[in-house]
Amino acid sequence: MSADVITSLKQMAATPGRTWIVGGASYGDLLAETGRLANALVSLGLRPGDRLLVQVEKCEAVLSLYLACLRAGVIFLPVNPGYTVSETAHFLTDAEPALAVTDPARAEGLAALGARVMALPDLLAQAKEQSSDFTDPMHRPDDVAAILYTSGTTGRSKGVMLTRENLASNAEALVGLWRFSETDVLLHALPVFHTHGLFVATNCVLYSGASMIFHPAFQPAAVLAALPKATVMMGVPTFYTRLLAEPGLTRDATAHVRLFISGSAPLSPATHAEWSERTGHAILERYGMTETNMITSNPHDGARRAGTVGMPLPGVEVRITGPDGGELPQGEAGAIEVRGPNVFKGYWRLPEKTAEEFREGWFITGDMGAFDAEGYLSILGRAKDLVITGGLNVYPAEVEAALDELPGVAASAVIGVPHPDFGEAVVACLVATKGTVLDEGLVRDALRDRLAAFKIPKRVLVLEDLPRNAMGKVQKAELRRVHAGLFAAG
Ligand code: AMP
Repeated sequence: MSADVITSLKQMAATPGRTWIVGGASYGDLLAETGRLANALVSLGLRPGDRLLVQVEKCEAVLSLYLACLRAGVIFLPVNPGYTVSETAHFLTDAEPALAVTDPARAEGLAALGARVMALPDLLAQAKEQSSDFTDPMHRPDDVAAILYTSGTTGRSKGVMLTRENLASNAEALVGLWRFSETDVLLHALPVFHTHGLFVATNCVLYSGASMIFHPAFQPAAVLAALPKATVMMGVPTFYTRLLAEPGLTRDATAHVRLFISGSAPLSPATHAEWSERTGHAILERYGMTETNMITSNPHDGARRAGTVGMPLPGVEVRITGPDGGELPQGEAGAIEVRGPNVFKGYWRLPEKTAEEFREGWFITGDMGAFDAEGYLSILGRAKDLVITGGLNVYPAEVEAALDELPGVAASAVIGVPHPDFGEAVVACLVATKGTVLDEGLVRDALRDRLAAFKIPKRVLVLEDLPRNAMGKVQKAELRRVHAGLFAAG
């Protein structure tokens, strides 16, 4: 069993003056604040197992609330502040939170939906009146710590129940793997409603007694200015591509950083190479999802292979299965399945859906992948994004990697579009680099010596931009919807 998040917090807070947020709270301050907030939640009538919905713009208080919930045994339920009131309605009816904490501007809208709402400043003011001493009740490792809703690109978004042990085991594995120590300073510019910024970033800091530079949002110029004081940065691939567009990104600007980590969406080998060239750092790419926390990581010490997500974390097992559910030999592409203490407890109030996603105790991630001979996993895309054209499988990731290498291609997304002859046709959606004009025929010609004919996109569409979610993930369902009629008769 791993050390609970709160055990770790208390241990780190025992060292006086240890910095949690650079220029802000110490671990001692954090422990006291979580005590006051936990007392406030209890005084508001919240009991272990109740849900606290938190929908506020990114601020340090979100992290204090997350930890206060863990102390009180209240289930923390963060929601993207970008969601409208009507989008948030689903979480209110589905999770039935005992209290919703919001920014003042949103309070009225959520209250109109029948929720019990408190504006964050009011809760913080109420906590100020409370004692910082809080007697933590007993918790079990498999108690639900948090519910995070899936981004819901297909169907209704589902509540992912994560236990204390899920969070703790993953934090311990990552701290060891990525060599976190109390001398580290993490540059935190990720959202805190998603597993990446909330758990991966925050818990790595907390479990090592490190500190963080906390940015309310990702601003390339502000991040560049802060890098000389940071030792680690975690980002989604768009952080890296946007930083590469900054002339100030140099070896000097990144010299103080020991580790750049990327995840939540595929980092193109082209970006990996460009980053290496400009800064001298090999970005470490890892793979995970809300349901499983982190699954694999490239090594800290060994080779970090572009286009791969590395090996399974200690204690985590990964297997690749074929259409009949049988395990495939090494090297073959198939469905990625995961087993280990990192894997969630189930979808909130959806036992049948949960059962469907597991096979003999293994969670079916919905991603396709293959291991190479050295044990590095490559992600080939979501199973539902696989293109079957004329009966042949095309993995979008392979075509995207070839496209990203072409001069003038800033970003690419490959989708399957209904086609009268082929069933589906491979279609590439491209964004050109500034000042470049991409020609459909030339792009297709350039792919001919890199890809078999059936993988070459039947059409190449040049777009202003690709639709992405808050984590920078391309919304392929949206691209498929918009371009569904591309090959329609007439
Ligand atoms: P989420 O639950 O929002 O974190 O999304 C998880 C999904 O993001 C995974 O199932 C993958 O499809 C994708 N993903 C996460 N990390 C990577 C990565 N390093 N490379 C490719 N896809 C990734």
